[in-house]
Amino acid sequence: MYTCGPTVYNYPHIGNYRAYISADIIKRVLMYEDFKVRHIMNLTDVDDKTIRDSHKEGKTLGDFTEFYTKEFLKDIKFLNIIPPLRFTKATDNITEMVKLITELLARGLAYKSEDGSTYFNIRKFKNYGKLSGVAIENQKENASGRIKKDEYEKDNIQDFALWKAWDPEDGNVFWETSLGKGRPGWHIECSAMSMAHLGAELDIHTGGVDLIFPHHENEIAQSEGATGKQFVKYWLHNEWVLVDNKKMSKSLKNFYTLRDIIDKGINPLAFRFWVLMASYRTKVNFNWDALLGTETALKRLQGLYLALGPELGEISERYRSKFKKRLGDDLDTPRALSLLWDLAKDEKISNSDKKATILDFDKVLGLGLENLKEDLSAQTGETPEEITRLAEKREEARRNKDFRLSDELRDKINSLGYEVKDTPKGQKIDKI
Ligand SMILES: [Zn+2]
Repeated sequence: MYTCGPTVYNYPHIGNYRAYISADIIKRVLMYEDFKVRHIMNLTDVDDKTIRDSHKEGKTLGDFTEFYTKEFLKDIKFLNIIPPLRFTKATDNITEMVKLITELLARGLAYKSEDGSTYFNIRKFKNYGKLSGVAIENQKENASGRIKKDEYEKDNIQDFALWKAWDPEDGNVFWETSLGKGRPGWHIECSAMSMAHLGAELDIHTGGVDLIFPHHENEIAQSEGATGKQFVKYWLHNEWVLVDNKKMSKSLKNFYTLRDIIDKGINPLAFRFWVLMASYRTKVNFNWDALLGTETALKRLQGLYLALGPELGEISERYRSKFKKRLGDDLDTPRALSLLWDLAKDEKISNSDKKATILDFDKVLGLGLENLKEDLSAQTGETPEEITRLAEKREEARRNKDFRLSDELRDKINSLGYEVKDTPKGQKIDKI
């Protein structure tokens, strides 16, 4: 299984995280069904955007991308996403990319242009368009025939760059290779990295719908063009996250990152929960009220779970088989969540069996219930760091007279089994 990972030039937005949570669910469902999953995710640390922005900030490409890579890895942890078997960086796979492009040249599917760049000839690959449905005949009449930029629109189908000859704008970012001095195009990176780690034939390839064209279409052309084998058996694409029913964009100021969620004192797992409330195939509309509502639901779930007591009984096979059936139906996470609520409220099941079954479901849902138990059963008498952090945020909210936020933070502290009191000497935190 291969997932197109982040381009490490900025903080990913919440739509990007929907893609990684969706991939995580597919993987967890497969593991739940006893499959061994070999999962690779790439980190795009060289492309048009990373080069442009590293120069803007006056940093080396390596320093610049390392910062955003670390931030991404932190976010993955906050969202309880199981890390892939391996993260692989584009800059660590240049040799593989050159090899693949050389093969495409040898097979007559690629050609060199006047400036020394190498392009994929889309007319030579007869299945071009099979994933996205684009047709070469619709190529714009006045299109130059080839495009060097990594990103372009569906109505601008052209031969795309595999290897980009060095350009003064690239500065010190280049590799001296048999293809000349230059750097890889974005699309060849994923073909080379996925096949280097998983072989010529992948079972599953995931990504957001925005990647279908041109990125995944081009991946198919490059990979199948070079090997003659079917590159991917199953493509899984998740839909967009809209904000107030509009596409997220920096100019509309409706562009949110996980940092924005954390800075508001909202548990990142509430965002994960919110993502699971919709099928990966449907567009979802983000707004803060919806997220706060989901956080309240998560707190209720945590409360119900904690009230079940310390004993762990047997997993209910009846619920387990229903759960599998719902997820087996095109990963129907909304219905899997509603089953979780049915289970939590089912009075015919003992607390200990309920607890075992909820924990079993959480292997797929990943809402961190197991860790919640660990945090609260730690009878050290010390206040956990998480609680202290929330209490500090609450104090700050009170200072800013943001009583809505301060109340929310108090509820959150309560849901984790602690209570906070305001005394003349400041806040006091106690176990409930
Ligand atoms: Zn990719």
